[in-house]
Amino acid sequence: MGQRKAPKDGDRKVGRRALLIGGAAAAAGSAVRARDELARLWWRTPGVEKPREEGEVDFAGARWVAASDANWRRADRPDDFGIDMVIVHVTQGSFDSAVKAFQDPGHKAATHYIVRQDGHVTQMIRELDVAYHAGNRDYNERSVGIEHEGFVDRPQDLTDEMYEASARLTARICARYDIPVDREHIIGHVEVPGTDHTDPGPHWDWDKYMRLVRQARTAPA
Ligand SMILES: [Zn+2]
Repeated sequence: MGQRKAPKDGDRKVGRRALLIGGAAAAAGSAVRARDELARLWWRTPGVEKPREEGEVDFAGARWVAASDANWRRADRPDDFGIDMVIVHVTQGSFDSAVKAFQDPGHKAATHYIVRQDGHVTQMIRELDVAYHAGNRDYNERSVGIEHEGFVDRPQDLTDEMYEASARLTARICARYDIPVDREHIIGHVEVPGTDHTDPGPHWDWDKYMRLVRQARTAPA
C-alpha cells in the first residue's frame, strides 16, 4: 500500500482527542483509566479512522485476497459515506481472471467481494473503503459491490451454491448498515445510472435472489 494522507489526519485527530480525554480523566485522578478509556473510544469518533488489521474480513468465512490499491479509495465508511446499497455484478470470466484483474493496478476497477460458483466468498476490499465497481462515483461511495463468477449469457453459471452464499453475504451487509431488503437498495450493475454494463444479465433470477436474501436476513446470524 502506498503513502496516504488519511492516516496522518487520523493521527492528528486522535492526538486532539487524547488531550481532551486525558485532561478530563487526569483531573478525576486516574491517568491509567484515561488510557484504557481512550483505547476503547477513539475509533467511535466520526472522522477518526478505524484500526485495521492485515487480512481482516467483514464477512465471516470470506477469504482475504487484497486488490491493488489503485482499484479502490481509502475511506472510513459508514462514518464518512453512508452505505445504503448492494450492487450485484457478474464477472464475464473465471474467478481466477477476476482476482487477477482486481490485483492489476491498470484495471481501474474492483468489487469488495467475489462469490465463486461453488459458493466460496473472497473479500478483496474492506467495506470501509470505496471500491471502483459501479462506474459512478456516488454509487461507488454508497455501495458494497459483489461479483459473481460466470458469464451473463450462460444461465448454468448461476449456481444454487452461488445464489445462496451471495444472499447470506448481502443479508449480513444489509443487517450491518440497516439497508432495506428491496430492489431499490439491492440492484444490478445494469441499473446504475450512466452505466454501459449489462450485468448481472437477463438470467439473473432476482425473485429467487431476493427471497434468499430475505430468508437469510431473518435467520439467526
Ligand atoms: Zn459489473
